[in-house]
Amino acid sequence: YVTDSTSAAAKTEGDNNADDDDKEDKAAQSLLNKMIRNNLVSNTNQVEVLQRDPNSPLYSVKSFEELRLKPQLLHGVYGMGFNRPSKIQETALPMMLAEPPQNLIAQSQSGTGKTAAFVLAMLSHVDPNNKYPQCLCVSPTYELALQTGKVIEQMGKHYPEVKLVYAIRGNKLQRGMKLQEQIVIGTPGTMLDWCSKFKFIDPKKIKVFVLDEADVMIATQGHQDQSIRIQRMLPKNCQMLLFSATFEESVWNFAQRIVPDPNIIKLKREEETLDTIKQYYVLCNSKEEKFQALCNIYGAITIAQAMIFCHTRKTAGWLAGELSREGHQVALLSGEMQVEQRAAVIERFRDGKEKVLVTTNVCARGIDVEQVSVVINFDLPVDKDGNPDNETYLHRIGRTGRFGKRGLAINMVDSKMSMQILNRIQEHFSKFNRNGDGWDSRVYA
Ligand code: ADP
Repeated sequence: YVTDSTSAAAKTEGDNNADDDDKEDKAAQSLLNKMIRNNLVSNTNQVEVLQRDPNSPLYSVKSFEELRLKPQLLHGVYGMGFNRPSKIQETALPMMLAEPPQNLIAQSQSGTGKTAAFVLAMLSHVDPNNKYPQCLCVSPTYELALQTGKVIEQMGKHYPEVKLVYAIRGNKLQRGMKLQEQIVIGTPGTMLDWCSKFKFIDPKKIKVFVLDEADVMIATQGHQDQSIRIQRMLPKNCQMLLFSATFEESVWNFAQRIVPDPNIIKLKREEETLDTIKQYYVLCNSKEEKFQALCNIYGAITIAQAMIFCHTRKTAGWLAGELSREGHQVALLSGEMQVEQRAAVIERFRDGKEKVLVTTNVCARGIDVEQVSVVINFDLPVDKDGNPDNETYLHRIGRTGRFGKRGLAINMVDSKMSMQILNRIQEHFSKFNRNGDGWDSRVYA
């Protein structure tokens, strides 16, 4: 019996990097996603309208022209390379741009066009002749606020009369001053201080209030309260907009407190399937043997691009080192890297500068690298208690149905325990596999 790196035994040796990775906050993940994404994620689902304000316009738009945007903004939108509204934008934009303004709660995965939508709404609603704040946008972190600010600047490129200011820690203003900028974007604490304690902003003049990344927001102590306190200072007719990538119960409760009489829309993420994936396993006796097996098939896997998943940072670092020593050019994506560094690694991989990317699961969660056709589970995905993590397995190797390219998954098994885990994963997915033959397990080495 050989313990593998995913076992409890490994943890007692002080190798608790998986735990460290787990603690990595949602905000960093979200930022990483924003930094590496340069287009929409594909989604063939329909937007669901879960609740509707009876006054809400019930139509969707297929073009930006239909929205009767200010020419400067239409120019900005096309300047960003957008041809038509994204799925969520088709429904969200008419609601957000309606007169009188409609409140909205919208949920869809990251990369579906939420930010672009509310930025367009904010820019449409401000009056540049009025030199005071009219839109507030709160984000969970300084870095996320800056990312949204960049989108405002891009989209508002041809509308320079509209000015933007960041309400973030460290941006110190003179006491008693009044802001002249029409849009204020920042974190909840500073935004609240600017509205109440310092009175840089007159909250009664705010027309649009945006709360972005609600799920990330509530993960931070205090942000929920601060956001609610800001919201209470705003006038009744202020438009309230809330966005979230996920929607657990806690997010929902929070959303209801922030947004009165909302329209609620949701876009389900594209279903992932294992149907087009060939899945194999390799039986080994140790980490070293797994490495050897990997070297044996290396030539085959690097015909395309491959991602190799390890359970801990330590294993990932070790494996990348060993592969390099063998003369293979690999990239390592690791939790201890700064978000900027991680974004750079992923971009190089995307561009094909490296053919193999070694990473831990937490680090690569939510990253879609579409051209990857080989996925290697150097360690099988398990949760904190060592049970099979089916969802992660599916997410690592699954493809979205319609656009699904064929793929290959290789699972490395190095103990009785990991074989059991693989069996349980297999059982789990066989139940859902109507064809019954999607699973093509085979001993390879
Ligand atoms: P989200 O806020 O849901 O994560 P974003 O608004 O950041 O999504 O959009 C994701 C990516 O898609 C960005 O690179 C953005 O510039 C781009 N994008 C947004 N809307 C459109 C559109 N209508 N057409 C083309 N690209 C778009």
